[in-house]
Amino acid sequence: MGDQLNSPLLPALVDRFGRSITYLRVSVTDRCDFRCVYCMSEHMSFLPRRELLTLEELDRICTAFVARGVRKLRITGGEPLVRKNIMWLFEALARHLQSGQLDELTLTTNGSQLKRFAKELKAASVERINVSLDTLQPDRFRAITRWGDIGTVMEGLDAADAAGLKVKINAVALKGTNEDEIGDLITFAHGRGYDLTLIETMPLGEIDGARHDQYLPLSIVRARLLDRWTLEDIPHQTGGPARYVRVRETGGRLGFITPMTHNFCESCNRVRLTCTGTLYMCLGQEDAVDLREPLRAGSSDAALHAAIDEAMLLKPKGHDFVIDRRAGRPAVARHMSVTGG
Ligand code: SAM
Ligand code: SF4
Repeated sequence: MGDQLNSPLLPALVDRFGRSITYLRVSVTDRCDFRCVYCMSEHMSFLPRRELLTLEELDRICTAFVARGVRKLRITGGEPLVRKNIMWLFEALARHLQSGQLDELTLTTNGSQLKRFAKELKAASVERINVSLDTLQPDRFRAITRWGDIGTVMEGLDAADAAGLKVKINAVALKGTNEDEIGDLITFAHGRGYDLTLIETMPLGEIDGARHDQYLPLSIVRARLLDRWTLEDIPHQTGGPARYVRVRETGGRLGFITPMTHNFCESCNRVRLTCTGTLYMCLGQEDAVDLREPLRAGSSDAALHAAIDEAMLLKPKGHDFVIDRRAGRPAVARHMSVTGG
């Protein structure tokens, strides 16, 4: 494993707009055991396994970023917990928490495998996890995820609680699908002591339906919630794009991620690594640098760091998301499961 952390010569990562890059999201697989309607088409073709970075290569790249000042790593996908031997990566990366160079190692999961992995994740120093859950109704859950079973996810949440993992629920607000259930999701999440974050659908990748049929602006959701709840602005900052309020009636936190209605790019501190080693500088733009080739070019990390430096020059000022009824194609061709949500 790389020991570049001892090198005093590696400068911290800052882009052309003066934004410090301190957060890396890493997609460890494009595969998934669900087929959520807003994320994938039912018949996805996945990458050949040889295209994927090995777990050792993922560790080497993450370690290079930690050496450059990244303080937070999020493991995602696809479904990260379906990647074979994934616990090896968590256990390996935990050394950076122990050395104090990393503040947080976390993951985003659909919860299907949590029952099996919750304890091991906690043992690998993962403290908080994001679990995606768009509905509490079994039939709806099946309709949204196509292949998922809500009972398994609920067991996963129980296992996460029992292991002492702190959970945040992410729910995508979907027009005509779960828009009548947002209040129930608040009651559920806050009742279990979880934060809840609502997300707008983003135009990423070809799916089977039309995006504009799914898109529900959170400004509308928020206005509707005011009929029933008191939302109090709070300064809570997670270093992410969510704006938080406290729901007075539950005492819980509710976040809104509004890439479509609100532009949060000016404070963006993150970059994303795909499971094939491409570093994307923005979820909503094509600017990217291949890290796999320089990684495989030799055992020293010099070429890798040079590629990371080159990438910093490419980070765009912001995304150009638009869900256009007429365009009929996604703003960005790659799926969220490739770039890592
Ligand atoms: N499989 C894991 C999960 O579902 O949590 C991790 C990967 S998934 C791509 C990460 C997050 O992206 C999930 O919360 C999912 O709901 C969200 N997501 C996927 N496609 C999206 C889209 N087109 N717009 C907005 N959010 C999306
Ligand atoms: Fe899988 Fe997550 Fe995409 Fe759903 S959102 S299909 S769980 S990667």
